[in-house]
Amino acid sequence: MSAPITQDVLTVARRLPDGPVNLVGLTRQQLRDVLIANGTPEKQAKMRVNQIWQWIYQWGVRDFSVMTNLAKAYRAQLAERFAIEIPEMVSRQVSADGTRKYLVRIAGGHEVEVVYIPEEDRGTLCVSSQVGCTLTCSFCHTGTQKLVRNLTAGEIVGQIMMARDDLEEWPTPGAPKDETRLLSNIVLMGMGEPLYNFDNVRDAMKIAMDPEGISLSRRRITLSTSGVVPEIARTAEEIGCMLAISFHATTDEVRDRLVPINKRWNIETLLEALASYPKASNSERITFEYVMLNGVNDSDEDARRLIGHIRRHQIPAKINLIPFNEWPGAPYRRSSNNRIRAFADIIYKAGYASPIRTPRGEDIMAACGQLKSATERARKSKRQIEAEAGLGN
Ligand code: SAH
Ligand code: SF4
Repeated sequence: MSAPITQDVLTVARRLPDGPVNLVGLTRQQLRDVLIANGTPEKQAKMRVNQIWQWIYQWGVRDFSVMTNLAKAYRAQLAERFAIEIPEMVSRQVSADGTRKYLVRIAGGHEVEVVYIPEEDRGTLCVSSQVGCTLTCSFCHTGTQKLVRNLTAGEIVGQIMMARDDLEEWPTPGAPKDETRLLSNIVLMGMGEPLYNFDNVRDAMKIAMDPEGISLSRRRITLSTSGVVPEIARTAEEIGCMLAISFHATTDEVRDRLVPINKRWNIETLLEALASYPKASNSERITFEYVMLNGVNDSDEDARRLIGHIRRHQIPAKINLIPFNEWPGAPYRRSSNNRIRAFADIIYKAGYASPIRTPRGEDIMAACGQLKSATERARKSKRQIEAEAGLGN
C-alpha cells in the first residue's frame, strides 16, 4: 500500500521566487527567527514580532513603510529582505444569494477556490487546503482532480486575508473592535483534505486564532475531514478547533465506495477516534456530514444505523444533511426533498439536531463539493482513481 503524500514533499519553500522571504504564514517563532537572522537584535525581537504581527494580521497592512511604530531605517531594512504577500485574486463571482466565489492564484500559477457565504447572523469563509486532492470520494468533484500540491500556511491564512480585503473588513488603527463581523467563521471545506496537509493547516489556523491578529475563536473554525484517523487526535491537541466528519454512509460496504479512505480506516476505527475528540479538544459536538444520494445511502434503515453508531460510541453529535450538489458527469443524483426530510426526522426524533444544509451559490458552482479549478488540467485517469480507491488493499 502506498503511503499518502504529505506536505514534506509537496510544499514549496516560503521564499518568494525573486528572493525576499514572505512573512505571511510564519508562526511567531518562525517570524522571530527570520528577524534575528536578518539583523534584528535578539533583545528587541519579541517586541518587533508583536509589532509586525499586529500590522499584518490586525490591521491588514502589506507595506512596511506604514508601520509607523518602527524606526524608518528598520522599516527600510525590512522592506529589502521581506515581503507581505497573499494569493492573488484572479476572479470573483457573486451568486444571486450573495455567495461569493473567488478564484485565487498561488505560486506556480496554480489556482484554488475560496467561497464566502453570508448568513443572517454570521459570514462563513470556506477555505481550501490543497490544489486537488489525493483522495477519490466518488461523489466529489475535487476528487476527480489530481493532487497538484499542498498549500503553504501563508496561502491558507492568505485566503482569509484576501476575503477581508474584498469585504473591506480591516479595522482602521485606533477604531474600536467590531464584534459583528462579516467574516466570522472559517470552515476548512474547500478543496483538499486538510489532515493530509496537517502542519500548514495548523500553523494557518493558529494565526487565524491569535488574539493579536485575525482573532477568530477556535469555536468558529471547523475542520472537515474524510477520516484521516491518526491525525484526529493531533487536531484536538494541536489545533483545538471544531471537527466535522464526512461520514456519508452507515455500512463499510457503502462507505468504501463513497469515501475510499474507509478501506484504510473503517467506520468502527473512525468512530473510536471521534469518541475521544470532544474531550481532548474541549469542544462540544462533532458535526457528522452526510451527503444525501438518491437510493445509495438515504434509507430509513441508514438513518437508524447512523444513530446506532453515534449512540454506541456516545459521541456528542449533530448531523448535517447535505443535499448532493450535482456536477457535470456526476454518477449520483440528489435524494428527493421528501426523502431528505424523512431521514432528518428519524434523526431528530432520536434526539440529535439534523439540519438540512441549504445549498448556496449553486448558480456559480460554489456549493459544497463542486469546487475544482477549471484551469487545472491534471485529471486523474480512470486507472489512478481505481488504484487510489483501493487505499489499504
Ligand atoms: N476533504 C474534506 C473537506 C472538503 S469537502 C472532507 O472530505 O471532509 C467538504 C464537504 O463537502 C465534505 O463533507 C464532502 O464530503 C462534501 N461534498 C463533497 N462533494 C459533494 C457534493 N458534490 N455534494 C455535496 N457535498 C459534497
Ligand atoms: Fe478529497 Fe474531501 Fe473531495 Fe473526498 S470529499 S475527494 S477528501 S475533497
